[in-house]
Amino acid sequence: MPRYPETEAVRIQTPRTGEKEHATPLFLTSSFVYDSAEDMVAAFADESLKLNIYSRFSNPTVDEFVQKVCVLEGAEDGIATATGMAAIFSTFMTFLSKGDHILSASAVFGSTHAILTKYLPKWGIQHTYFSMTDPGSIEGLIRPETKMLYLETPSNPGLDIIDIAYLAGICRARGVLLVVDNCFATPVVQRPIPLGADIVIHSATKFMDGQGRVLGGVVVGRKELIEPLYLFVRNTGPSMSPFNAWVLSKSLETLYIRMERHAASALRIATVLDEHPAITRVRYPFLSSHPAYEVAIRQMKNGGGIVTCELKGGIEAGKRFLNRLQMLSITNNLGDSRSIAAHPASTTHSKLTEEERLAVGITHGLIRISVGLEHPEDILADILQALAVP
Ligand SMILES: *Cc1c(COP(=O)(O)O)cnc(C)c1O
Repeated sequence: MPRYPETEAVRIQTPRTGEKEHATPLFLTSSFVYDSAEDMVAAFADESLKLNIYSRFSNPTVDEFVQKVCVLEGAEDGIATATGMAAIFSTFMTFLSKGDHILSASAVFGSTHAILTKYLPKWGIQHTYFSMTDPGSIEGLIRPETKMLYLETPSNPGLDIIDIAYLAGICRARGVLLVVDNCFATPVVQRPIPLGADIVIHSATKFMDGQGRVLGGVVVGRKELIEPLYLFVRNTGPSMSPFNAWVLSKSLETLYIRMERHAASALRIATVLDEHPAITRVRYPFLSSHPAYEVAIRQMKNGGGIVTCELKGGIEAGKRFLNRLQMLSITNNLGDSRSIAAHPASTTHSKLTEEERLAVGITHGLIRISVGLEHPEDILADILQALAVP
């Protein structure tokens, strides 16, 4: 009988060892032994069997984590990587060749932007940016050599949202791979593969771990797409460590309940901030004021755990807000059990020109709040006291 994905996220585990342990074992081993020379020959004979040979190729603890993500995303197969960026870079390197073109949302993670602009051109791979707020323009940007459409929805940090099923229709008709970075939503909130995406990527570092402990990445999709990715990771080495996989696999057991709490608290905070006189604009996918609210409620189960707001008073107001916080952490991560506030214009995106920042929606007063698992009223109280005019 098929079970719910949230049940599988709790119950999937590598076969028990002879010790009959209940919790999932951690296979901290770099290699695996053979009973005979013949067994060793057989293990190497067919790469597609993914037999346990060496933990750069595969490892039972890493496989368990990947299997869980596949069930959660509704995907056939997957591969784990050391970080989210390793997942993104491996995907680009596997599917793009010299002369190919990638069409990417302009609002993508900073390091993804760096891969597109600084590294891919070295191998003769060109990119064009499209605007998340102008989906009607995308089809016209597809060229004969366009191989991939790449995006994040909701995007970081602007929380722009785009209709995945609509883009999947265009990509299918034009023979373009649709790749979605689903890091902000997680599969609890949004499942791009059933909506028609070919490949889904995660930085498992964020909500998947959810407690700010380990780095990780994962890519899932159809078997025939994961096969060349597996060989790329196996041969070039950005593999996930078994220890990180063990931490992440345990974390997936609580992903459903965590995301529900993150989202309920985020909606409560967004609703209150929406009325606050020190704030000019609040953005949250499940606020009806979100420009793509109709798309958000169709393709997302809840609004997720990130809220952004625009402070009156620009850069100085942003810095003052961070300095007045008593509980929320000022740190570069997100998707943690601890609530976090960030001011992109003075920190993560300070190297961009003002024009570049504004083009991706990072205004001077933009604050990004990653709503944690503390009591929502405590999170709200800290934000409100930090906003109060002295
Ligand atoms: C953090 C992040 C990444 C990069 O992941 P790492 O695990 O830090 O390498 C990629 N995409 C998004 C949307 C992210 O938030």
